[in-house]
Amino acid sequence: MSTVWIQARRAARMNPSIIREILKVTEKPGILSMAGGLPSADTFPVEALKAACDTVLSKNPREALQYSASEGYAPLRDWVAQRVSALGMQVEPEQVLITTGSQQGLDLVGKILCDSGAPVAVETPTYLGALQAFTPYEPIFTSLASDGEGVVPDAFKRLRHDAPGTRFAYLLPNYQNPTGRVMGAARREQVVAAARHAGVPIVEDNPYGDLWFDAPPPSALASLWPEGTLYLGSFSKVLTPGFRLGYVIAPKELYPKLLQAKQAADLHTPGFNQRVVYEVVRDGFLEQHVPSIRARYRSQRDAMTQALREHLPAGCEWQEPTGGMFFWIRLPEGLDAMALLPQAVDAGIAFVPGAAFYAQSPDARTLRLSFVTLTPAQIGEGVAILGRVLRETLALAEEPTP
Ligand code: PMP
Repeated sequence: MSTVWIQARRAARMNPSIIREILKVTEKPGILSMAGGLPSADTFPVEALKAACDTVLSKNPREALQYSASEGYAPLRDWVAQRVSALGMQVEPEQVLITTGSQQGLDLVGKILCDSGAPVAVETPTYLGALQAFTPYEPIFTSLASDGEGVVPDAFKRLRHDAPGTRFAYLLPNYQNPTGRVMGAARREQVVAAARHAGVPIVEDNPYGDLWFDAPPPSALASLWPEGTLYLGSFSKVLTPGFRLGYVIAPKELYPKLLQAKQAADLHTPGFNQRVVYEVVRDGFLEQHVPSIRARYRSQRDAMTQALREHLPAGCEWQEPTGGMFFWIRLPEGLDAMALLPQAVDAGIAFVPGAAFYAQSPDARTLRLSFVTLTPAQIGEGVAILGRVLRETLALAEEPTP
């Protein structure tokens, strides 16, 4: 045993992502995996990106390959400020910070807003990657009561008493990862009013908002309370996650600290990537491209709805998502999704057990299924296998013990 290295307290709090561990198993050939949180690689606009790389390297090779500003590439910041106006937000380019994926935005938020022992409120359940990003900064998580539309406004009332000094509430109003749920317009108003009343600012994470199937989601929370909401966006689900491009839109009072944190973290997000993505999106490319992703995901969603109705045993509960990439399933009493996973993998499928997505009191009966990386036929096959595994387990549980 080495005694040379003494690790930080925060390092002891970090754990291997259960999802990464699961993904390793599910990468075995032949597994129909509904476990990934990845967009469909068939949606990546390879030709447009290739042409844009060429343009950037021909037009401005030296600037594109040089160090650049920590805030981000100015034309891309302008474009982002423009684009979010469709969500009802009025943003100046000076409020936009380009980040290395929105995951980095979460880390920077943790860095400048969390303290050891200070409360942070999260939805029940919530995005595992955010729990992982905030955890090293040693917050105490409070789980906000949530229903099919996300956080319940009343949950903010209890914060005053149960978690005074809550630094922020981390909320995902659009097609949440992991549940797929969306917050309606009235709920948004109530939630913002309740958060405001409780004096708890909001960190709004919106990587899935463009992936709606029937109608766009209501306006962003940030449009209702601009000075009290920090907003995170991403290019990962509408273009490609491989360029690691996201952005934070910060209230002006927070921007300088975020920028300092960003500088310390990586100086800046790769300027080449920013220029290439700007070259792709500058003339309205997303206006044709995103509808093709929506159409594709909608038909996969439909295939999963049909398969779940056909194959899952009585007692399973789910809500059909109206956008995004995920179904969230609650199994009948007595079943434990984590315990079922090895059996499911042996039978040829994979999912993510839901327990990983809870800050507190995990619900062992829940699991997440992605519908975007399999074909409709594979979805039918995969869900049929899941149904079989569940029926077999339920039948065993019902067998009288001798
Ligand atoms: N937030 C949520 C809710 C996510 O699901 C993801 C990706 N899985 C991210 C943030 C991070 O996305 P990226 O860093 O690729 O922008």
